[in-house]
Amino acid sequence: QFFQQRRRRIALSQSQTSDLERRPIELRSDDVLNGITGLIGNTPLFRVPSLSDALGVEILAKAEFLNPGGSVKDRVAVRILDDAERQGLLHPHTGSRIFEGTSGSTGISLAMVARARGYDATIITPDDMAAEKLHALRSLGADVEQVRPASIVDKKQYVNIAKQRALAFSTAASPSVVPGLQDSITVLTDSEARGFFADQFETKSNYDAHFDGTGPEVWRQTNGNVRAFVSGAGTGGTLAGVGRFLKSMEDDVVICLADPEGSGLYNKVKHGVMFDHREKEGTRRRHQVDTVVEGIGINRLTQNIELALPIIDEAFRVTDPEAVAMARYVMKHDGLFIGSSSACNLVACVRLVKKMGLHSGQRIVTVLCDSGARHYSKYLRTAGIPIDMKLVEDMLTGDFSAA
Ligand code: PMP
Repeated sequence: QFFQQRRRRIALSQSQTSDLERRPIELRSDDVLNGITGLIGNTPLFRVPSLSDALGVEILAKAEFLNPGGSVKDRVAVRILDDAERQGLLHPHTGSRIFEGTSGSTGISLAMVARARGYDATIITPDDMAAEKLHALRSLGADVEQVRPASIVDKKQYVNIAKQRALAFSTAASPSVVPGLQDSITVLTDSEARGFFADQFETKSNYDAHFDGTGPEVWRQTNGNVRAFVSGAGTGGTLAGVGRFLKSMEDDVVICLADPEGSGLYNKVKHGVMFDHREKEGTRRRHQVDTVVEGIGINRLTQNIELALPIIDEAFRVTDPEAVAMARYVMKHDGLFIGSSSACNLVACVRLVKKMGLHSGQRIVTVLCDSGARHYSKYLRTAGIPIDMKLVEDMLTGDFSAA
């Protein structure tokens, strides 16, 4: 009886659809992506209306917060593991474990991609990391080890601990090559279980993810009509990879660094010396960048920063209040809820338009690395504090050509 009823329903629905006018739809060969990693990259490029309208110059943003792990770092995580597998350094479902020291989004992206590819992940983080990032890591099944923030030259710094843990894991599981470590031991055994140090600061896979992915996407999406590219640098992978790709297509594209307070990169670009402007020269340098803006700014040279430095044409230092005001501004006017590094990038976009004296029709591209949802606790802490939107209004209307 059930099947009879069902057949009747189907017959009815068929007779109804045959009465409907069928719209022609162009069929594509295959629009189905494979698994969560299939969703990484190919992010939309969109116009930021409030800033573009006020400036008369198109401010275009890559919506990296739409990656499945919530940030631009998904691209890097999948590329690092792909490259390691291609080189035969990692084999899925062999009990191998990915190690990384990160205070940012890279850990979340690695934890997600590791799960999808059949690996475990251990993420070492400083113990002052935002609560929502910790929850995300744990929800993705990563082992999280929290350590006291320390300088990179300290053995107990989280990146160094991750390196040591990867080596110890491999030695315990099977004495074998430890990828990413120069001082690795090289006795090969039958077991494939390895500890793999992802090493986002130094690995070229980070740069390649942007040179082969983000950069060409920007070029395609703008039809090659892009005057400048603006980005902050944490590892430097985005700035170096996208910047070098765009320059390879069109030498005149201006590459601009957005540097938060406390970072030494601005000084490196402008004066050739890397020091935090808030410290007196000669005092011990901080390697952690202590600012509201998370994820960008650095006080040491890494492989990926070295790749970025030669192609940087312009740099702006962005203060915490400016970044916070910008985040609030685009939230109020565009409904755009972005993270602090993205806000920092937008401030630098405005400065660049003013400094270059750009005119209508010209386009600047930047990346919105993650969403404000990654920073709720910080936003909530500052929610009651009046934010000086005038900072942004002045920036938009003022004359910054001498900045
Ligand atoms: N924004 C956020 C939120 C990040 O976590 C990072 C990476 N640390 C960046 C920007 C900077 O990207 P990159 O490492 O490619 O310089």
